[in-house]
Amino acid sequence: MLFSEIAYGLIHSRRFGASLGMEIMPLTHKLCTFNCVYCECGWNAPLNHPVLPTREEVKCALEKKLQTLQQEGTKPDVITFSGNGEPTLHPDFKAIIEDTCALRDQYCPSAKVSVLSNSTQLGRADVVEALRLCDNRILKLDAATDEMMRRIDMPVQKELTVQTLMAWLKQFNGDFILQTCFLRGEHNGQIIDNTTQEELEAWYKAVEQLRPKQVMIYVIDRKTPEEHLEKISREQMERIAAPLRAKGFDVSISA
Ligand code: SF4
Repeated sequence: MLFSEIAYGLIHSRRFGASLGMEIMPLTHKLCTFNCVYCECGWNAPLNHPVLPTREEVKCALEKKLQTLQQEGTKPDVITFSGNGEPTLHPDFKAIIEDTCALRDQYCPSAKVSVLSNSTQLGRADVVEALRLCDNRILKLDAATDEMMRRIDMPVQKELTVQTLMAWLKQFNGDFILQTCFLRGEHNGQIIDNTTQEELEAWYKAVEQLRPKQVMIYVIDRKTPEEHLEKISREQMERIAAPLRAKGFDVSISA
């Protein structure tokens, strides 16, 4: 599933409410630094010269969409950057966020600006600064062991470690939302399961170190590129959330 417009929606999202979606990756291909087994956009494809919308095109598309919504007498709850890959890869990401916050202030000041990111670009100062301008930084950590993170997310940068991701995430001093997709299955003969006792213990420890303001856990919801994946039940997601809730963490479940 790919998004073919820069500004789309409103989409009534199970996690975010009435969301105006922003696509700043190529409109015809996925471009990502992960290749998650559960990605709704499918597997990464070779992309030699990715064509990204320019800062100006993004600004114009958003303003036009906000004007249309205003004429229709409606407003988004949230302006959400996600879509066909990893939005922080855009070379003008920070400027785009600055434009977005200015347009939000002009047309719908109560709307939040949110970015869903896979956390892999948090080593770049401009990306961290841009994310700090947003209301919600929703940052991925699918597993807290290198082995399982690599099996689930298949980072393009193969040497990426959980330790590096953790160090980057700590830059926000807990002022972010942590997102984790729980799943089980198999890919290329390897077991995928971040719900085992060992994996959960490592993940709980990571959450306690990061102390995010919210933890969003969710399950696969649509068709996935790897077919041999299993959706985790609501009951099991409640059991996964319970120890964190008991310690005072705000945990939301989309299942
Ligand atoms: S990080 Fe997101 S866009 Fe990238 S492969 Fe994973 S699910 Fe897909």
